Order: sequence, then C-alpha cells, then structure tokens
Amino acid sequence: MPERLAIVGGDAAGMSAAATARRRDPELEVAAFERGSFTSYSACGIPYYVGDWIDDVDKLVARSPAKHRERGVDARIHHEVLAIDLDARTLTVRDADGGGESTEGFDQLVVATGARAVAPPIPGAEAIEPARTLDAALRFRTQVEEAGGGSAVVIGAGYIGLEMAEALAHRGLDVTLLDQAPQVFGSLDPDMAAYVQEAAENVGIRVLLDCTVEEILLDGDSTPRAVRTSEGDLPARHVVMATGVRPDVELARAAGLEIGETGAIATDDDQRCRGAEGVFAAGDCVECHHRLLDRPVNVQLGTHANKQGRIAGANATGGDYRFPGVLGTAISRICSREVARTGLTQREAADAGFDAVAETVQTDTRARYFPGRGPMWVKLVAERGSGRLLGAQIVGSETAGKRIDTLAVAIWNGMDVEALQWVDLSYAPPMSGVLDPVLVAARATAKLV
Ligand SMILES: Cc1cc2nc3c(=O)[nH]c(=O)nc-3n(C[C@H](O)[C@H](O)[C@H](O)COP(=O)(O)OP(=O)(O)OC[C@H]3O[C@@H](n4cnc5c(N)ncnc54)[C@H](O)[C@@H]3O)c2cc1C
Repeated sequence: MPERLAIVGGDAAGMSAAATARRRDPELEVAAFERGSFTSYSACGIPYYVGDWIDDVDKLVARSPAKHRERGVDARIHHEVLAIDLDARTLTVRDADGGGESTEGFDQLVVATGARAVAPPIPGAEAIEPARTLDAALRFRTQVEEAGGGSAVVIGAGYIGLEMAEALAHRGLDVTLLDQAPQVFGSLDPDMAAYVQEAAENVGIRVLLDCTVEEILLDGDSTPRAVRTSEGDLPARHVVMATGVRPDVELARAAGLEIGETGAIATDDDQRCRGAEGVFAAGDCVECHHRLLDRPVNVQLGTHANKQGRIAGANATGGDYRFPGVLGTAISRICSREVARTGLTQREAADAGFDAVAETVQTDTRARYFPGRGPMWVKLVAERGSGRLLGAQIVGSETAGKRIDTLAVAIWNGMDVEALQWVDLSYAPPMSGVLDPVLVAARATAKLV
C-alpha cells in the first residue's frame, strides 16, 4: 500500500506542500482538502481584482483542482476538515456538495489552515464578510458593481485596508479609510507612514485617524447603510473590515497540537509539529523564528507560506530542510507609492531593547535630470556603536520599493552601515542617481553610529 499524505487547506502553504511531496515521491498518495472553491489562489491579488485592474478571478488561480489532479494530487474543494484524530490517524471531512461526512486516513499530515479575520466586537460587524478568499472577493466585487457607485468605508488602515481603499477609489467610489491608531500602515514608523497617508489622500481617500468604530448600521436586508464612529456617522454602501487576522488554529488545538506563545501552531524549523510524529504545519497558521528578535513570531505573508509549505512537503517525504526564519520583510504599493520594510522599525528596535540610531534620507528614484523620476525616502535603523543594520523602511515612487531586498540581504548577513555604504551597487541614470539611495542612506546613518 502506498503511504498517504493528507493536507488541510488548499492555498499557498498546503498546495506547495502537496506539489513538493508528490514531485519527490511519485508513489505517494496525496489528498488535499479545501473548504472554499479555489486552490492555489493569490489572496494577495484580491485588492487588484476588486479594483478592476484584473478582470477575471481565474487569473488569480495559479493551479486549479483539475491541474493538481493531472499532477497526481487529489485536490478536493468544498471539503472542510472538521476534526483531526492523531491517534487513529484520520480526518473527519464534510463534503459541502452533498457528499456528507467521511473519514479519511493519513500516514503524514500537513496542517495549512491559514488565518482568519478578526472583527471588532461591535453591532453589525457580523454582516460584513472579510474579503480574504476568492469566494468572498467575487461576492464583494459583484456587490460593488451592482451598486454602481456610492460611498465606502474601510475600517483598518494597515496594508490590506490601504490596498482595498485604493481599489474602491479606483472604482470611483467615495472612500473613507479609518483607524483607531494615530497613523496608517502601523508596521512603519509614523514619520514614514505619513508619506503613505499623503499618497492615499492624493487620490481622494479621506483618512480618519484616532477614530473608533462603534457600530455598522444595517438596512433591513443586512446591507450596510452607515458606520457609526467617534467622529460621527459615515454613510457607507460598502464596508471593508481590515482590522487584523489571527492564525486559524482551532482544528489544530482541538487535535492536541502545541500552540505557541504567539497563538499560532508551534513547529520546529523543519515544520514538524512538536510531539506529533509525521505531522507538519506551515503558512499563516504557524509561528516561526525572527532572526533579529530571536523569538517566535506569527507573520502572515504568502512568501513564507510558500517556502514553509515546500519544506513541509519535502520533509514529509524524507527530506531534511529547515526554514531559516524571517526578518519581517514586506512590500506593497499604495496609490502612487511603493512601501517596503525589513528588520525592525525604530520603535520596534527600542521596544526590543536595542540602543539604536535612525536616519532618513530623501532622494530620487532616477538621476535628477532623467524623465519619470520621483521622490523616495529611505529610513535606516542601526545599532549604536557596532553600526549593525537593524532595519530599513522605504516609501517612494515606482521602482523605489524593491530596493528593500538589498537591505534585507544586508541585515540577513549581519552587515553594518559603514560597510554597506561601499557595496558595489549598480547605476545608470534611468535607474538611480550615481549613488543608489541605499548607499546614500547607509552613508548618512554611518555618520550617526
Ligand atoms: C487581501 C490580501 C492581500 C495580501 N497581500 C499579500 C502580499 O502582497 N504579499 C504577501 O506576501 N502576502 C499577502 N497576503 C497574505 C497571503 O495571502 C497569505 O500569507 C497566504 O495566503 C497564506 O497562505 P496559507 O496557505 O498559509 O493560508 P491561506 O491562504 O489562508 O489558506 C488557507 C486555506 O485553508 C482553508 N481551510 C482552513 N481551514 C480549513 C478546514 N478546516 N478544512 C478545509 N480547508 C480549510 C481556507 O479556506 C484557505 O483556503 C495577502 C492577504 C490578503 C487577504
């Protein structure tokens, strides 16, 4: 009898695990259970689909269930896993298409259940479906198109709230973005976040900060009419709730898998669940090691989910791969500006007990005389004395953002800003000034450390 690998969750982490395991062991039976209608989809693309930069939801699907089946993975959509029995090595699965409940055996298991949205505990919140899956995105886009205009309120000004606000503004809606915090994009320092807020306001988004949401006012058919806030009632035909997510661990917890201090599933760096032979977990539902903070964190990003899924799939088939941890590198495009961060912000470095200095430089994305140049700001955080680079943030026009990757590699390898200012980075007028903004920022910061 061939061994059987079961996967719970059919997106980035789960299907990376499935595909990797099947590639490594063509004899292995691989069954993946997904409660939604899509597998291997890009949740990251949802704001661009809602905003109509992308017209067809299928373009966000990297591999359909049929394609997975062609490659030997038995991918089953509309199948929800209700329980995991680690002793019997079985799953209880409900087929939402009328197939009832069944018991599915496994030899190895990968838990990749992702994260779920956390709504504020206010009346009316239950009527707002979070746009986290393609099913939900399809419903939301249809609702926006059928209404044909009006006003929208986006609650939560993190990167997803900002991306959704931009999407709705792009559709011609009158958009208010609000947050109870005093700044947008809470994973940046406030001075850098101000450039993001400016970009949002420049496309007509009204930004309300220090604003508490109290109630979603609904019509009789449960569609939103307004949002009651500490700043008064805001008319809202559409409401987006982007108030954060938490790892979806209820199934894992009920099965007795260890939950770590972050509230996510605790795994070793080979993605094995502790004390559960042949059981792995990956993606948004797990915690992983932060290389600077030297403690577990739960970071919900597609890039980690893919890597961890691949590692889980490889190790479930006899591999020996390890996830090396994260630095909190992330990038987004908000209105006309690219926004990126890696390592620690100034505030995070202080909270973690580092004696840190920070410097921000403003430069241009291209040579000063070259058409199409725009402003960009680079903020570096470095350890006083040693000069070790601890963090970087970038906000700027097109082409600014991906420079964060150079800085992530520098932090990953423990570089200091003195050395960084002399690194051999490329130059041509359409791409940068003669000294790349990364070098300019490193030189300015080196003067402080
Ligand atoms: C709007 C938006 C924009 C984003 N933008 C970016 C970005 O630009 N860059 C980036 O790196 N990341 C981004 N992300 C985050 C990224 O999408 C996630 O980190 C990634 O999808 C995580 O993959 P995952 O497989 O761990 O979890 P998920 O993608 O959440 O997949 C988990 C799957 O498990 C299924 N499931 C859960 N429980 C069960 C069960 N009991 N039975 C069966 N199925 C179950 C769910 O239906 C879901 O499909 C974005 C997310 C959103 C929502």
